[in-house]
Amino acid sequence: MLLTINYTGQKTQDLGYLLHKNPMRPQEFELGYGKAYVFYPEVSDESTTVALLLDINPIDLARGKIGSTDGGLFDYVNDRPYVCSSFMSTAISKVFGTAMSGRSKERQELVDIPLFLTAKIHMLFAPNQSMIPEIFEPLGYSIEVETYLNDDKFPDWGNSNYVDLTLSGTVRLQDLLNHLYTLIPVFDSKKHYYIANDEIEKLLSHGEGWLKEHPKCEYITSRYLNRRRSLVNKALLQLLDEPESDEDKTDEKEKKPNLNQTRLKAVVDEALSSGARTVIDMGCGEGNLTRLLIKEKQFIKVAAFDVSFTSLERAKSKMKVDKLHETIQNKLDLFQGSLTYRDKRFEGFDCACVVEVIEHMDESRLSAFTQILFGFSKPKAVIITTPNAEYNINYENMEENTFRHSDHRFEWDRVQFTNWAEDICEKYGYKVEIKEIGDGDEENGAPTQMGVFTLCE
Ligand code: SAH
Repeated sequence: MLLTINYTGQKTQDLGYLLHKNPMRPQEFELGYGKAYVFYPEVSDESTTVALLLDINPIDLARGKIGSTDGGLFDYVNDRPYVCSSFMSTAISKVFGTAMSGRSKERQELVDIPLFLTAKIHMLFAPNQSMIPEIFEPLGYSIEVETYLNDDKFPDWGNSNYVDLTLSGTVRLQDLLNHLYTLIPVFDSKKHYYIANDEIEKLLSHGEGWLKEHPKCEYITSRYLNRRRSLVNKALLQLLDEPESDEDKTDEKEKKPNLNQTRLKAVVDEALSSGARTVIDMGCGEGNLTRLLIKEKQFIKVAAFDVSFTSLERAKSKMKVDKLHETIQNKLDLFQGSLTYRDKRFEGFDCACVVEVIEHMDESRLSAFTQILFGFSKPKAVIITTPNAEYNINYENMEENTFRHSDHRFEWDRVQFTNWAEDICEKYGYKVEIKEIGDGDEENGAPTQMGVFTLCE
């Protein structure tokens, strides 16, 4: 069974550094149930491909020597040596474990950048083929499926359950590896080892950052855990244990009333005075800003997206999208997307609003976000708001060194935010005005800080 991953772009030999596998040196790994080989069929500046080939011994499997606690798991004649299955997942984590965790000694800066990658999974056992787009497309891949006849001599017997699946997308390598690790066994669920509680931890750790928001989260969880109801329920409970929404938290900790409303109004006013006709609300959450934007006649097109499927569902029901007037419905485009992946749908807007979102992203991913927004999408105006950490001292209930919200990855003081904003201006040709939102004091400033960026002509 074979998996190949191709990287197309510039200096693509760096794939070797990312995977910790030298392109010039084929390697062999013992896996207990056979061997894994890693080699590069293609290496050049523009395109590099790595191959992971497994050589599995079906007799060992049938005798139950390995990978099982209770005798053989498979018949003597079995398809395991020829198909991509949970063996491939185990091999991916064993051979590319460091890359999966997002560490690279020599090319750490590349780890966080989405690259144009194409993975080809040869012989995926996929009796549930119709699920392939539903599983992979929400993760940003375009897919190609090649099918095979059961028998060339008898086309009437139809296609077999095995397919070659090609996934292409602009993703971080670690995300691609984690997607493959988790999703191959979702199709071929004959796991070669006993499924126990520790599988939940593996699923949650490899699914971090994408599984919870995936529209087929429940399906993936159920199939990954071989439909063992008690484990599936446990995993879903842990997955869906969402942090409270920003709005709830606002009431609890931000004692000043209506900060949220003040902030949204300030953003709408800035968007209006930028002269924008088209606007995109990035990381729209439950659509609190989107709802205000669509009411403004000046805006003829309003797009809004979020990475979280559940937030979008809430946004739709809160905005009562189905009941909106037709002209408003026509100008609204609500979709699922991520700020850290380049996406054509983000392009062509006069103004982008990113309200209380950056602090939800890992700081290491911010450069990918700025490159996508300021480097590729390039709206004429960008409005970004984020908490001012200095102000937290005013929140009586807040303990030291904590954040306003459990999902915040950081909170910046005014100097940190200003420096970050100025670096963006220098790199991408914008100018910025930093403003304060909410009542503050001279020493610590206001609760929210806002950067209003304008593209220099
Ligand atoms: N802008 C909204 C929501 C703020 S809460 C408001 O002001 O009400 C932060 C939101 O950012 C969450 O809905 C979260 O799902 C979203 N988010 C976090 N990381 C994201 C990413 N990489 N791409 C898109 N949305 C993201």
